[in-house]
Amino acid sequence: MTAQKKLPTLAIASLGGTVSMKNDALAGGVKPALGCGMQVAQVPELRNMALLVLETLALLPSASLSFLSLLDVFAWAKTQIEAGAVAIVMTQGTDSLEETAYFLDLIWPFDAPVVMTGAMRSASQPGHDGPANLLAAVQVALAGDSRGRGVLVVMGDQVHAASQVRKTASLSASAFESPGYGPLGMLIEGSVLYHHAIKRTEALPLPFRTDHRVALLESCLSADVDLLLAVKELGYEGLVIAGFGAGHVSESWSTALGRIAPMLPVIVATRTGSGSTARASYGFVGGEIDLQAKGIHMAGRLCPRKCRILLWLLCASNNQHRIESWLT
Ligand code: ASP
Repeated sequence: MTAQKKLPTLAIASLGGTVSMKNDALAGGVKPALGCGMQVAQVPELRNMALLVLETLALLPSASLSFLSLLDVFAWAKTQIEAGAVAIVMTQGTDSLEETAYFLDLIWPFDAPVVMTGAMRSASQPGHDGPANLLAAVQVALAGDSRGRGVLVVMGDQVHAASQVRKTASLSASAFESPGYGPLGMLIEGSVLYHHAIKRTEALPLPFRTDHRVALLESCLSADVDLLLAVKELGYEGLVIAGFGAGHVSESWSTALGRIAPMLPVIVATRTGSGSTARASYGFVGGEIDLQAKGIHMAGRLCPRKCRILLWLLCASNNQHRIESWLT
C-alpha cells in the first residue's frame, strides 16, 4: 500500500465582485450570486490540491467594501493561519482590488501568503475568467516561493505586488498592471516563476481606532480651493492630493496646502498613473521643492489611493509621524 501524501490546508474566502456575478433578470444586469463554495465548484481540481476551508464573507460589489470589512477579513484570515492553513486565497471585485490588497498587505504579519483574485467577465459571460484566475491564485498560494511576499494579486496568470498593482482598464480582460515595476512573477503551466524579490517592511499595528477619515482630492486645471480649505473643518485627519505631473499643484493650491499642512499630514502624489513624484527638480510655487518647504510629504512611487490607505492606517495607530519612512 502506498502512503497517501497529506494535503496542505488552504483557506479560501469570497467577498463578491464580478467573479461571483450572474445575470439577474430583475436587475437587468449581473449581480453577486455565487458564494465561495459555488466558485470553488467551478474548479473541481482544487479539491485534489489542498484541504479547503471555504467561507463567503460578503457578496458585494467591491466599491461597497470598507476598511471595517477588511479588518473582519483580516481577523478571519489570521484565525485560519493560526489554525494551520498554509495560505489564504480571496476572491473579490476588481474595482477596489488594488486598494484592498494594499490595506491587507500593510497589516499582514505572517509569512504565509494572501493571494487575491477576481474576474473581468461574470459567470454569465462567455470566457468567464473567474475559474482560471481562482486556479492560478491557488497555485500561487501553495507555492513555497510565495512565502514572505505578503499580499499578492493574481490576474491573467500574472502575480503582482500589492504595493504596485493597479487596475488600469475599465472593461478589458487584461486590466491589471504594475506600472513602472512590472509583475512580480508569472504562472507557467501551473508553476509560479518570480522575476523580482520583494522588500517588505514590518506589519503596521492593527488600528486602535477606526472613526477617523483621510481625504483624497485631485488637482485639476483651474480648480478653486474651497474643498481644500473645508477639509480640516469637516474633521478629516489627513489629506492626500493626486497632483499634476511629478507631484505639483497650482499656486493657489500651494498657498492653501501651506495653511493646512501644520494642522494635519498632507501627501502629494502623482495623478499620472505611473512613476514617482520629484524631490529636487522644480523650483516654482506649487512644485515639489515649495511643497516640501511647507511641510508637505511627497508620495514617491505610491499612487494617491494607496497613500490614502497608508495614511489612514498610520493615523489609526498614532504613527502618522512615521509617514516619510514609507514614501520612497
Ligand atoms: N467590475 C467589478 C469587478 O470586476 C465589480 C466589482 O469590483 O465588484 O469585479
